[in-house]
Amino acid sequence: MIKTLSIVLVIMGMFALLSALKSSISLYQRDRRPSTFSFVPVVLGFIIGYILYAAFLSMKPEITFIECVVAVIFFGGGIFCVMIFGVVSQSMERIAFAEFQQRHNASHDRLTGLPNRRFLLKTITEQITDDSTIQQKLALIIIDINNFNNLNEVFSHQKGDVLLAQFSTRLKEYVDDDIFLARSSGNRFTLVLLNPENTNIPAYIEGMQAYLDHPLTINDHDMNLTNTAGVALFPEHGSNAEELLKRAEISMYSAKRIQAPYAIYEPSRTSHFYDQTELAAMLHNAISTMDFELYFQPVMNVQTPNQTTFEALIRWTLNDGYIVRPDDFIPIAEQTNAIKQITHWVLETAIAQLAIWHSQGIFPQVQVNLSVKDLEDNNLEPYLKRLLKTYAINPAQLTLELTETSMMQNPCKAREVLEKIKKLGVSLSIDDFGTGFSSLSILSNMPIDEIKIDRSFVTDLLYSSNHEAIVRSTIYLAHSLECRVVAEGVETEALGQYLMSIGCDKIQGYWYGRPMTLAQTDAWLHESHLVNFRVASQN
Ligand code: C2E
Ligand code: CA
Ligand code: CA
Repeated sequence: MIKTLSIVLVIMGMFALLSALKSSISLYQRDRRPSTFSFVPVVLGFIIGYILYAAFLSMKPEITFIECVVAVIFFGGGIFCVMIFGVVSQSMERIAFAEFQQRHNASHDRLTGLPNRRFLLKTITEQITDDSTIQQKLALIIIDINNFNNLNEVFSHQKGDVLLAQFSTRLKEYVDDDIFLARSSGNRFTLVLLNPENTNIPAYIEGMQAYLDHPLTINDHDMNLTNTAGVALFPEHGSNAEELLKRAEISMYSAKRIQAPYAIYEPSRTSHFYDQTELAAMLHNAISTMDFELYFQPVMNVQTPNQTTFEALIRWTLNDGYIVRPDDFIPIAEQTNAIKQITHWVLETAIAQLAIWHSQGIFPQVQVNLSVKDLEDNNLEPYLKRLLKTYAINPAQLTLELTETSMMQNPCKAREVLEKIKKLGVSLSIDDFGTGFSSLSILSNMPIDEIKIDRSFVTDLLYSSNHEAIVRSTIYLAHSLECRVVAEGVETEALGQYLMSIGCDKIQGYWYGRPMTLAQTDAWLHESHLVNFRVASQN
């Protein structure tokens, strides 16, 4: 009886060892290191020892007490080995997972789980240096979320992250598995399409943008993020990953400049693509000589068509004749604080021009843009006061525009500055309304006379019921605050007529008139002055 029990114990110990052997083999299969392999022969050796001892016991007619104790120890040894292997394989799994996480984190973005820029560059490089006989063609599509910095400033960065995660989820849903999708920087994503000749790239981007045009939720509010795309192709547009990425960015910026949804790289544009540092240095020189020009865009006054209004828009022309748009250099001037000098120049030029027109018997209104940095300029109000006095113009002819985003960055400060300016008799307008997510209570406390609805809501008004509702309610809100409403970016007559029919007070856009040089503005003014004069004399 004791002998049988001892043999059973040894055999059970051996089975325990067999299961330890199985774990050590599977461990080695996952983690092919010599140290892991060394378990296998050791456990095998043990098993042979167990078999020999079981055979030895079964051959003996009777066993001693010591042999029985040894059998118990053999059993215990087997169980011990199983336990040890359990612990070892668990720790090895944890180590392997930590290593995987480390590798993943180095190549992936934490917020969206997408490959990061480093991984993107590596993937592009691998694709274009592939040794196979047929050269791999590819297309890089960059998607940049518009106005994302404003959004981060108005909400918190955490809320911005929530939006980014939602945006990337929607993007992942659209993009097929065979397309490499990465988050290449903050609010920018990049797609790598192999064999782009099989895809209609413009149609693909249009489809993607339509899919992304879907409200995301933040603070229980629905929000539509728009984006701009830029495309570069290999081998046509660059020979390495960095170059291709830079060229896709160039095309994305040129799309933004002309407010197009996307653009494909055109080599001729490169000569006019300066990076921030180059532009900053060139701007520094331009400011020392105030090498700028003011263009004037006419704004239609619906109720009083005889009254002419212009928005003054700054232009900077480089030596080669290329005109740098304000969207490209105003942000740089804001960073370097040079914006204050620029604003002073724009104000003086506009007011001096009003005085010239005054001497010709013409009294248009002029709107001048302020920057958020101007709110920190304590000299602004006294300077403006001096200008109005020096040029002896009626302050009611001047309106200052400040974007909703700038106002919302520090509403108390904005209110304080705007109230001082308002006391001079100058009108105030909120520019780009709808992009700054302002609250009604803040807005109703601002000393404003006019709200300019941002172009992004106006452009597709006739096709988007969402935007139509926003525009209608903004008109209602503005009128209840006793403010005039201006619709920006009105490019067609149909849109202009519709906006007038729903109560817009002013219409601005290419339909009524594009920004013009001073000479063109003078011609326009004299023409409309004559027309008005003829109409008046006929009446
Ligand atoms: P903004 O104040 O919203 O000015 C209107 C912009 O929309 C102008 O662009 C104008 O050319 C463009 N625009 C007007 N009508 C239409 C249209 O029907 N369709 C389209 N697609 N665009 C239209 P611009 O001149 O490039 O100015 C861009 C921005 O730069 C301005 O936006 C303003 O924020 C800023 N800016 C311009 N001049 C100055 C300035 O003197 N000082 C400051 N601080 N900012 C300025
Ligand atoms: Ca403006
Ligand atoms: Ca605007």
